[in-house]
Amino acid sequence: MARWLRMIGVGLVVVVLGLVAVVLVITLSLPGLPPGSTKQSPPIAGLDAALKRLSEAVQIKTVSYGPASPAKEDNSPAFHKMLQDNFPLTHAALKREIVNGSSLLYTWQGSDPALPPILLTAHFDVVPVEPGTEANWTHPPFSGAIADGYVWGRGTLDMKQTVMATMESIERLLAEGVKPKRTVLLAFGHDEEVGGEAGAKAIVDLLEQRKTRALFSLDEGSAILDGVIPGATRPIAQIGLSEKGSVSLLLKAKTKGGHSSMPPLQTAVGKIGRAVSRLEAHQMAATLDGPGGLGLRGVAPALPFGMRAALANQWLFSPILLRQLAASPVTNALIRTTTAPTMIQGGVKENVLPSEATAVVNFRLAPGDTVAQVKAHVEKVISDPDVTITEYSTHSVEATSVADMNGPGYKFIAEAVRTIAPDALVTPGLVVTGTDSKHYSRVSDAAYRFAPMRLTTPDISRIHGTNERIGTVNYGELISFYAALLRAAAM
Ligand SMILES: [Zn+2]
Repeated sequence: MARWLRMIGVGLVVVVLGLVAVVLVITLSLPGLPPGSTKQSPPIAGLDAALKRLSEAVQIKTVSYGPASPAKEDNSPAFHKMLQDNFPLTHAALKREIVNGSSLLYTWQGSDPALPPILLTAHFDVVPVEPGTEANWTHPPFSGAIADGYVWGRGTLDMKQTVMATMESIERLLAEGVKPKRTVLLAFGHDEEVGGEAGAKAIVDLLEQRKTRALFSLDEGSAILDGVIPGATRPIAQIGLSEKGSVSLLLKAKTKGGHSSMPPLQTAVGKIGRAVSRLEAHQMAATLDGPGGLGLRGVAPALPFGMRAALANQWLFSPILLRQLAASPVTNALIRTTTAPTMIQGGVKENVLPSEATAVVNFRLAPGDTVAQVKAHVEKVISDPDVTITEYSTHSVEATSVADMNGPGYKFIAEAVRTIAPDALVTPGLVVTGTDSKHYSRVSDAAYRFAPMRLTTPDISRIHGTNERIGTVNYGELISFYAALLRAAAM
């Protein structure tokens, strides 16, 4: 008996040692962290004048208001004029078209018409400042103040900085006498913050009519994340390959009304409560196979050994990994279609049984999941004939396709990042919010989402929030980034 036990014990030790060896070998065979200087680039020449131009752009109130607000004046023409005044060489050399009255499409004709163009996109509308928070700004939101090493104001991160830095880079290339071989298209929308239907969509319709197909497109969506990913020892330049979709479902429970002194076992309010709580308890499946998981694996070389080993050995650790990633809202959003009950309503008086109660649940779709699959999941999980499920708004959007991380566009972008931020680890990733790229991907073989703002965790809440600002040296890096990208991809 003792001998058998001993043999089992020895066998177990051998298996465990074998597993440890395999895990170690796989972890150590991961590509290491590329050598990188941790020094930030020095300020570029002419930065002060460029900062003043960015400040001027911020001061033009191109605010997109939601459908609930009364229509406000369209300041797009003032923005167009500011661009014309500030970038004379660009406006002399590029063809400019005003699309749908407010958006802009520029064409920098390349010398070789056989080469497919590249498409650089941005939007110059901004979200409003939440009423009542104006006083919390260190510098007023539309002041464009240049102070303490930053340009302050709405649109400095989202995303007048990209419109302006792209124009600065082209003005500089033109001043050097550089001419593109490949055509460069610039598309600047005026209504991204309310869906881009009148701006980006109209530009894409026009490009489609002209049978234009871009080698790749580049839009907002991700950045250089500094200290945002827990444990990462390097800034992470995350190039978004795809963006999540969105659908909101309306759940409606109907039961008999009456006096609350003789209620049924479950009222309409109870039925909606049960439906919502079941949806939270039964989430859509999580996976590490999509672009979110790809991004997490890409970060692995910059992570401490334990996390690197877990990410490198998903064949063994994926159940533990998925559980850990699901525990944080940031990483949970990267690995699954998320479930967010956002509105609930029912009942009018304390002693009246409600005949109806409703809830709205917003789902953000991971690439690979469809709106139809989400509906089927919700019906199965709720499984109550008294609860009907319909789409809440007509604005549901499927997740986009996933751009190739081995394509030429990705390589050009990654190389351009390395020229300005040699300290950063370049990885692919998933964008969890919506951008105009859902439109642009119709005319692009590969839609990437990235701009090289250096963002820490508190910076992320400045986007659409209070004290939005960009570092002045970082703004210079943006200009150098677009110039490097244009040189590599178009010259
Ligand atoms: Zn934006």
